Amino acid sequence: MVKRPASKKRRTILVVEDEEDILEIIHYNLSREGFRVEGSRDGEEGLAKARRLNPDLLLLDLMLPGLDGLEVCRRLKADDLTRRIPVVMVTAKGEESDVVLGLGMGADDYVVKPFSPRELVARVKAVLRRGPLREDGGAGERIVRDGLVVDIARHEVKVDGRPVSFTATEMRLLHFLAAHPGRVFTRDQLLSRVIGEHAIVVDRNIDVHVGAVRRKIGPYRVLLETVRGVGYRFREVEG
Ligand code: CA
Repeated sequence: MVKRPASKKRRTILVVEDEEDILEIIHYNLSREGFRVEGSRDGEEGLAKARRLNPDLLLLDLMLPGLDGLEVCRRLKADDLTRRIPVVMVTAKGEESDVVLGLGMGADDYVVKPFSPRELVARVKAVLRRGPLREDGGAGERIVRDGLVVDIARHEVKVDGRPVSFTATEMRLLHFLAAHPGRVFTRDQLLSRVIGEHAIVVDRNIDVHVGAVRRKIGPYRVLLETVRGVGYRFREVEG
């Protein structure tokens, strides 16, 4: 057998979903995009398949009989074999508190039912493109987005070429979000990653910092999006 180059390898998506018709729709639409799709109807089987197949992404319904989706996510992320598999949660409207929990456990993103096939495919591709969360938050990277420049190494933010004064916390917050465009972070995640545990009490309200950052970046404030009931996100680069 001729070994194909790695770049030509079909990517595998594991779908854990107990509703047969939804599983079918997902299967059809992702297969059509060239993905290899594997399905599981319950959490236990899904975990076993994730270990065996090492899929490129796991699409995980949260409302499953037996082992629910959050528990599946928790176990995946606690297991060295599976912790690097990106997880996209599939949720129903009104499950924002579960989304917050799931993101805190290391899930990468979520789609809300009912979703369009186009939306689903776009989300899956976006998560695959973006890769794993960068634990160093992008470190010294200089980020340029339209007329907004965030240079954390030089402690400098420029808006349309004009330097704007930022506190260290505001700078880290903007830089961290901008280094992960399209990814939603909960307030807790931002607190621990941006502000840290040693911050004084008055520092611990993320919304206040986000408000300050928005005021300072003026026309680019629209890039810093509020995700209702969940947290904040820097707008995805259109592709
Ligand atoms: Ca379900």
